[in-house]
Amino acid sequence: MNYRHAFHAGNFADVMKHALLARILVHLRGKETPFRVVDTHAGIGRYDLAGPQAERTLEWRAGIGRMEEPFGPEVEPLLAPYREVIGATRARYGETVYPGSPAIVRELLRPADRAVFVEKHPEDGAVLAERFNAVHNIKVMLMDGWIALRGLIPPKERRGLVLIDPPFEEPGELARAASRLRDAMRRWPTGIFAVWYPIKDMAEIESFVAAASGAQARDLLRLELLVDRPDGLRLAGSGLLVANPPWTLAGEAGLLLPALAERLARRDYGAFRCERLEREPPRETRGPH
Ligand code: SAM
Repeated sequence: MNYRHAFHAGNFADVMKHALLARILVHLRGKETPFRVVDTHAGIGRYDLAGPQAERTLEWRAGIGRMEEPFGPEVEPLLAPYREVIGATRARYGETVYPGSPAIVRELLRPADRAVFVEKHPEDGAVLAERFNAVHNIKVMLMDGWIALRGLIPPKERRGLVLIDPPFEEPGELARAASRLRDAMRRWPTGIFAVWYPIKDMAEIESFVAAASGAQARDLLRLELLVDRPDGLRLAGSGLLVANPPWTLAGEAGLLLPALAERLARRDYGAFRCERLEREPPRETRGPH
């Protein structure tokens, strides 16, 4: 386990993922009945952008570092929940601190909602546990997120979100993510599932999406932000595949993603995708009567 998110916190991929995560949570808060959030690859919850790891890469500068200036009147209100969480995190922990997904979830969780954060890295898991285990409606689990997922769903709540955000360090992890997603959706058909994926090679992403879209989701939304042309080597984009998305998300992403593509493009190239994927038609198991 070499990946440490502290090197990448606040980069363009985090901005995209976290702004959309906040939109999904805002939607879940729209109904009174409690919801559950499961974050299978949680990291340490918040990051110091002035710390040694972030300083080494300075990736945040081309991400959250470019977000200070407000966007136009259509986009800025959509970013408000994300910006509010960042503001609250900075106020509590210092101006250079950036919230990870657990901090965003915590901020938007209501007292009757619940969340489980899973992290496998022993040191990062210990930090996460120290930061969140005392919160009454949050549980931190130090274990493999894929194994935890099997035991954690379906939860007793009908509504909720599973965020799957692996480091994709090993070959074949995209294929594994697609098959685990399909399995998880079968077991919690009313849950929202958001899988983050790195975009380096477009052909690889096409097979991942094709493998995932065989699932029994009502609906799959493919959201992508490209800050460069994919060359198969460098991280050129960030994707979020959302199964059973809130009905509001496609419209919101359709406004957010082009604005982020323009703002976060590396050179002159910024692009986005906001595509609703059709559910596979059911296979005929019998001939006509
Ligand atoms: N979701 C976090 C956020 O948005 O702030 C970032 C997560 S980071 C991309 C991926 C995390 O997964 C790392 O902290 C890594 O240690 C952890 N990890 C790697 N393999 C794992 C596994 N099998 N189960 C759970 N966590 C794992």
